[in-house]
Amino acid sequence: MDRRIYGIETEYGLTCTVDGKRRLSPDEIARYMFRGIVARGRSSNIFLANGSRLYLDVGNHPEYATAECDTLTDLIAQDRAGEQIVQSLADEARARLAEEGIDGAIYLFKNNLDSVGASYGCHENYLVSRATDLDSLTQALLPFFVTRQLVCGAGHLVTAPDGTARYVLSQRADVMWEGASSATTRSRPMINTRDEPHADADLYRRLHVIVGDSNVCETTTLVKVGATDLVLRALEAGATPPDLAVANPSAAIRAAGRDLDGAAPIALDRGGHVLAREIQRAYFEIAAAHLAAEGPARPLDERVLDLWGRALDGLEAADMSGVAGEIDWVIKHRLLMRYAERNGLDLADPRLAQLELNYHDIDDRRSLAARLREKGALARVVDDEQIAQARTTAPTTTRAHLRGSFVREAQRHQRDHTVDWSHLRLNDQAAHTVLCKDPFAAQDPRVDRLLASMAQGGVAGEAPFI
Ligand code: ATP
Ligand code: MG
Ligand code: MG
Repeated sequence: MDRRIYGIETEYGLTCTVDGKRRLSPDEIARYMFRGIVARGRSSNIFLANGSRLYLDVGNHPEYATAECDTLTDLIAQDRAGEQIVQSLADEARARLAEEGIDGAIYLFKNNLDSVGASYGCHENYLVSRATDLDSLTQALLPFFVTRQLVCGAGHLVTAPDGTARYVLSQRADVMWEGASSATTRSRPMINTRDEPHADADLYRRLHVIVGDSNVCETTTLVKVGATDLVLRALEAGATPPDLAVANPSAAIRAAGRDLDGAAPIALDRGGHVLAREIQRAYFEIAAAHLAAEGPARPLDERVLDLWGRALDGLEAADMSGVAGEIDWVIKHRLLMRYAERNGLDLADPRLAQLELNYHDIDDRRSLAARLREKGALARVVDDEQIAQARTTAPTTTRAHLRGSFVREAQRHQRDHTVDWSHLRLNDQAAHTVLCKDPFAAQDPRVDRLLASMAQGGVAGEAPFI
């Protein structure tokens, strides 16, 4: 694939503290956050002018799904813009609460576990060709996903029922129950095989990866998506996958998460064991060989490979200082250890759990990550300007550009409209609908006509397109 479409969906954790008479549950707070949106559009599921989707399902995890991106730079800018958009909803909710005399503080976390251990996800989406055999692709990728947390886990301080605490690589590893399946609630797989391409189903499939942690540090997101993309490209080009099928993916992912040197022995299908980091290294090698043969094809290829390689070198040398400002689990681990040492705290001390949570807080006025960024201690991929741009503007090189323009114009002319990933519809009498099946197409004369019609107040003499 010359180009690929990527998208990241992020569910946010939400809690609040209220001083005053009435206590509000996270459910109620979530509804406060979406009240303005519902009032404007009747629904708590909307598409924004930057091409993204913002919604609240049942429950209390606001979700932001980035627009379709075809570069990692756009993807990271759009993902970070999502943090600011979701935070702005919390600010509005707080103001509304204040008007009602409720003094509440709202906390949104870009993490994957709440205080009672309930998990919420961060999904990655990769466009692949319909010609790809998804079954064998999935099997080829599973050992990679089982061990990918070694280089892009968000890290987590887990307290056991006996009160002892330990630091693990990932927040998602313990809630994964199988390798691949189309069910997401009952069995929670690492790859969701539900066939919903949001694109021309004759040409494309969407690889829906639900095993990953939400990442705070931009370079961790970069290596998460970038390494996955490199492995996909190598496999698509015919590379032989490493012969490392794991015997039991859910047991393996748990074991891999518990060894901070990547030295957990992983049982293989064919018998015997290898270390978790040896599995990652084998995938790194096929990606590196592919890049060496083809030459870097995408702007950040070399940066991705470099960071991935340095992280693996660090694991092998039991010294992660070479990626200390680039990989979430390493950054957090160092912060926690230093704090514990300085204050003579046991790992199970609640102050450490609080510190950990603070790293994931998306409110820049409070967040530890924001402070580290200001100090230059958290590596960046995009700058504040690019994030500000991504808040209001869709990527210009994908279908998201069409959606973004449509939504912006519909809002400007106050036209009732309905949008999903592949449809744009004006809810006028003729119900003009444009089906955008090609996620790579950023230009479309039908959309141009639709936009022009909004300015004029109607499309004369044209039948609706479906
Ligand atoms: P769920 O929320 O239940 O997981 P879903 O996976 O369909 O449903 P959405 O939350 O609507 O998800 O998000 C879809 C994501 O897929 C977005 O980030 C979007 O940019 C991305 N996407 C859309 N079309 C494609 C495509 N053809 N290939 C890859 N990614 C795509
Ligand atoms: Mg989603
Ligand atoms: Mg999804």
